Order: sequence, then structure tokens, then C-alpha cells
Amino acid sequence: MEILQNKMRIGILGGGQLAMMMIEKSSKHNIEFMVLDPSERPPASRYVNCIKSQFNDEDSLDKLIDYCDIVTIDFENVPANTLKYIERTIEVLPGSKAVEVCQDRLKEKKIFKENDIPTTEYRVINDLYDLSQAVSELGTDTILKSRKFGYDGKNQIHIKDNNLTNVWERSGRAEAILEKKIDFETELSIIGVCTKSGDSLFYPLVENFHNEGILNMSIAPYKNDDLQEKAESYHQKISKALNYVGVLVIEFFLDDNNNLIANEMAPRVHNSGHWTNEGANISQFEAHIMAISGMNIDNISITGSSGMLNIISKMPDNKFIKANSNYKLYDYGKSERLNRKLGHISLTCKKKEILISELLKLKEKII
Ligand code: ADP
Ligand code: MG
Repeated sequence: MEILQNKMRIGILGGGQLAMMMIEKSSKHNIEFMVLDPSERPPASRYVNCIKSQFNDEDSLDKLIDYCDIVTIDFENVPANTLKYIERTIEVLPGSKAVEVCQDRLKEKKIFKENDIPTTEYRVINDLYDLSQAVSELGTDTILKSRKFGYDGKNQIHIKDNNLTNVWERSGRAEAILEKKIDFETELSIIGVCTKSGDSLFYPLVENFHNEGILNMSIAPYKNDDLQEKAESYHQKISKALNYVGVLVIEFFLDDNNNLIANEMAPRVHNSGHWTNEGANISQFEAHIMAISGMNIDNISITGSSGMLNIISKMPDNKFIKANSNYKLYDYGKSERLNRKLGHISLTCKKKEILISELLKLKEKII
């Protein structure tokens, strides 16, 4: 009988498409996964049996603690107390401190400022008085963003000529920031992976296009040596401050003067990195799993130009996608719902011009 080698066991809090791809893309490593998610059949259940549980159920967390060597997350809104509870016994990577910062826009802004990383101008909003003061200072071309639980443009209200009392009521009177709107040239993200031995490795900058706050398309590489260097140095400052292990992503606005202005960050693999499945030697998913398992990563390199289109609200007819062998379709197996991310298509080409024309053709068919 073959003696079973000690398999690394990783727990994932959240069983969405990110967990699904972390499991799928690290299949060549000797790792077993256990996933905890409150929903019935989350995307990760394609590969593992998921424990159906709320994130604060201590019995379920104890199962994870007993079975796993380390725990990671597939979405950042896992309560910080859950992470702290697990951390008392086994390692959580990234750690609760890092995740707590990324759960709160105000804490993110503060850490950007403390590290001299330019960020959007903002004010702290705790009540209607704060909101009217802040609007009188920053103007009405501003966005009220809840400090917590924002994603895909949710929990954000553009002030414009709206009545402030109504805005405050619509926001649910949640702790928020008021942020100045940026007239950006484009949006970029830096995806970096930090190993346990303290190295940081980076993918090239990715250019991102959003539609009503939801990521629609990403294209990489965005070639600009100066910006790449700057983005990496910002990333390193943050990862050092947070003692970070795993994939960390920072989203930026690029303004007309070629300045990177930090918008927000994600303490996990990111939608703007899905192209790395086909376009890089190691995908962001595998890189994250390798880093938190204590493996070293020699280098990250890419092939040609890659793009990713999100499939939102409705799945397209997949015959034409399957007919083109360059298109790689990921179906997360979710039911259709307005503004829900259901899957993505990625595509790698030798030349950027060809990639862009292919993406534009594809875009017409899936929207
Ligand atoms: P989330 O991705 O968590 O929903 P973001 O703050 O990244 O929240 O906002 C989503 C998108 O909305 C951004 O990628 C950008 O396109 C737009 N947006 C957000 N804040 C601003 C801003 N201050 N100026 C201009 N556009 C913004
Ligand atoms: Mg964002």
C-alpha cells in the first residue's frame, strides 16, 4: 500500500468562483481543500464538498481548524472575528489584520496615506451633518461610498444634484466616506504575490474597463516601465506594513498627468487577474496557493497579450464560443441574475492589436 504523504490541507472561507479556480488551478500540488460557504451549491462545490454554514458558526469553524493546516479567503467580507477565532489555533493567510484593513475603505485610505501613496480626496461621514459639510468642501461631483460591504459598484451613490437627506437615507445611514470623483484616463491594477520568505513577485499592470461599477474587461500587459515600477513599490510598501502573504491586488486610477491614484485593494485573487490562467506561466490562483503553502515562486512571466471579458447577468449562447479554440470559457455554474458575474472568457494573442479586435468582436456577442 502506498504510504500517503502528508498532504497540505487548506481551508477556504467562501466558495465562489475565486475558490473554485484556486482549487482547479492548483490541482498539480499535493493539496486537499475544505470550503465553507453559507449558500447551497457554491461554484467551488464543483471540486469539493462544501460545508454549508454561516461564517460565525463556531462548530463549523472548529471543523476547519481540526482538518486544515492553513485557512484563506475567497472574499474579503468574512467577519474579522471569524479570522481571529481561527488564528488562535492555525494560520490564516492573509492574516486578519490585512483583511480588516481591506474590509474598510477608510482604513484603506489611511494606510495609503501613511505610506505616501496618492489616493482620492475624501471625507469621513458618520451622519447627515458630516455629509453636508463634506459636500460643501468637495462639491457634488463626489461619491458616497459605504466603508464596508461594497463590491461591483454597490453601496455607492453619486451625489450630483440629489437631495442630501435622501442620499443619506438611501445609503442606510451606514458609516461611509465621501470621495471626489476622478476624471481618469484609465484604470489599472497591480497583482502581486508575497511569499512566506518575504519575496514579492508581480504580474504586469492590467488595464481595466468597468461598466456601472462592475468590471467588464481587462487587458494585460499595460506596458509602461515607470508606472509598473511605481505600482510595484506601492504594493511592496503595503504588503510590508501588513506583513502580507498571498496575492494582494491594488486598483488605481491613472489621471491625465500619468499619476497612479490608489482606489482600493483586495486581499485575495482578483477578477482583473483571471487572464493569468491562460496568459502567464503561473496563474494568480496557483500563485496564491503556492505562497500561502510556503512554496517559493521562481518567476512570473507572461505570453503575448491577454484579455478577459466578464459574462454578467446572462450566459451567452456558448456554441460560437466553443467554435473558437482561442476563447477559453469559464462558467461558474450560477443562476442568471441582473448584474451577477456568471462567468468569463479569456483570450491570449501574440499581438495586442489582434487581441483588441478579437475582444471587441466577442463583446458584441456576449452583451
Ligand atoms: P468596488 O469595486 O468595491 O465596487 P470601487 O471603489 O472600485 O468599488 O468602484 C467601482 C468602480 O466605480 C471603479 O472601478 C470606477 O470605475 C468607479 N469609481 C469608483 N470611485 C471612483 C472615483 N472616485 N472616481 C471615478 N470613478 C470611480
Ligand atoms: Mg473596485
